[in-house]
Amino acid sequence: MGPNYSRIRCKSAVSKSNLPGLDYTINPYIGCEHGCIYCYVPDIIRRKEFLDSWGELVYAKENFVEVLSKEVGYIKPGVVGYSTVTDPYQPYEKKMCFARKIIETLLQHNFRISFQTKSSLILRDVDIIEGDKVEVGFTITSLDREFARKFEPNSSSPEERVQALETFSEKGVKTWIFYGPIIFGFNDDDETIKNIMSLAKRTRSYLIYDKLRLKPILSKRMMKHLGEEFEKIRGHIIENDFRKVYYKVIKLSREYNVKVEAAFT
Ligand code: SF4
Repeated sequence: MGPNYSRIRCKSAVSKSNLPGLDYTINPYIGCEHGCIYCYVPDIIRRKEFLDSWGELVYAKENFVEVLSKEVGYIKPGVVGYSTVTDPYQPYEKKMCFARKIIETLLQHNFRISFQTKSSLILRDVDIIEGDKVEVGFTITSLDREFARKFEPNSSSPEERVQALETFSEKGVKTWIFYGPIIFGFNDDDETIKNIMSLAKRTRSYLIYDKLRLKPILSKRMMKHLGEEFEKIRGHIIENDFRKVYYKVIKLSREYNVKVEAAFT
C-alpha cells in the first residue's frame, strides 16, 4: 500500500533558522515518504498522526508558493535551507511540482538556496539550479544498497544520488555531502568512509558529518525495525564511541584533501 497523501493550507512559508549557515528554512511538505528509520523529524514535530506511521502520510501545503511569493517581498534576503524537516524532492513532489516555482521565486528576490535531499528527482530542475546563489547537498550515509534499503527505504538508491551529485558538480554548482547519521556497526567502517571521501574529492564537495543522536520517538522506531541489532547501537552510543569514528573521518579527510566539518559540536 502506498502512502497517504493529503493537502492542507498554510499561513506562512518562511521560518527563521538557528541552523548553522542558514538564515531561513522552508518546508512545503509535512511528513516525508522516504521514511528513513533514523529520521529525527517525528521527535521535532511531535504530531500524533506521525508517531507510528512515519513515511506513510504526507501533507502538501497547497498554497505554499502563493504565500512564499508574498513573504519574500518584505523579508531581508538571506540563505534559505530547502528543506529541513522533510525532503523537497520526495515522490509527492512529482505531482505537486512546487520546486521550480519556489526556486524561481527565491532567486528572483535575491535569496540564496541550500538544498538537502536524498532524491535524484532534483535532476528534473537541473536547468534552473545554477549560479553562485545555490548549493546542493546530498545525504550519503553509505554507498551500500543494502544499507539504504534498510535505513532509507523509499529514497533514491546510493548510485542514483551519486549520479545526481556528479551531474551538479560537473555543471559547476557548489555541492556538499551529508554523511550522517553515522550508525555503529553499519556505516562507520573504513571502507564506507573512504568511499564517501573519494566521492567528495571527485565532486569537489565539502562534507558534513554527524553521529546518530537517539531521541525517544526515534529509539522506539529503530527498536521496532532493528530489534536486537538496536541494542548494540545503543550500547556504543552510551559508551560514546563516536570519538574514534570522528577521529577516522578527520584523519581520512586530510589524506583525501576534503574539507569536513561536524554538523553540531
Ligand atoms: S529524507 Fe530526511 S526528512 Fe525524509 S525521512 Fe529521511 S531523514 Fe527524514
